[in-house]
Amino acid sequence: MGLSEIKAKVAKAEKEHGRAAGSVTLIAVSKVQPNEKVEAVLDQGHRVFGENKVQEAQGKWPMFREKYDGIDLHLIGPLQSNKTRAAMELADSIHTLDRSKLAHAMARIAQEIGKCPDLFIQVNTGEEDQKAGVLPRDVDSFVAECRALDLPVKGLMCIPPVDEEASMHFALLRKFAERNGLDGLSMGMSADFEKAIAFGATHVRVGSAIFGERDYG
Ligand SMILES: *Cc1c(COP(=O)(O)O)cnc(C)c1O
Repeated sequence: MGLSEIKAKVAKAEKEHGRAAGSVTLIAVSKVQPNEKVEAVLDQGHRVFGENKVQEAQGKWPMFREKYDGIDLHLIGPLQSNKTRAAMELADSIHTLDRSKLAHAMARIAQEIGKCPDLFIQVNTGEEDQKAGVLPRDVDSFVAECRALDLPVKGLMCIPPVDEEASMHFALLRKFAERNGLDGLSMGMSADFEKAIAFGATHVRVGSAIFGERDYG
């Protein structure tokens, strides 16, 4: 596939599911991809990208920012506490706010550096041990805690379990967002972004369908 096919599919899904045109932000997940492939997508005019690791993102995005205007960088991977400041200095959005300690660190650093990226709270909708995210029963209190810290929480994010139907997780995340008055829903990847759009996704995170399979070799 490639960028233009995926953009067309996003637009089609918006239309089919009664979503406003342009209401879904396509995040091109460039983690692990070679710089030439990322530049090819930049050269097609796309500006919204996602990275998993702070260090990897630091290694390429300051350079791309010098060359291309209007880059909108989203960090979508688990965030270690000792990388919080670097992440906040680099990213426009962070999708993986998942614990109280991190929320407090972000609030303090935001004061110090005078800015804070848009934040999404990651929810572990499948209650998987190996996965990050706040548990469903803790979502409401954690949203309240982040708001009390004046953090700019824009929405919720989830990664459904690989072996389960994604729809119920998308529906659950939407319910949590509505209940908390949050507009943003970061959900859907290469395999299921159209389904996520049907369930109200505002941000889909698509990597391999745009860039090809990642080569971890
Ligand atoms: C890698 C990654 C994606 C993109 O996955 P694809 O299946 O390549 O589209 C989306 N979200 C998160 C959190 C990821 O780590």
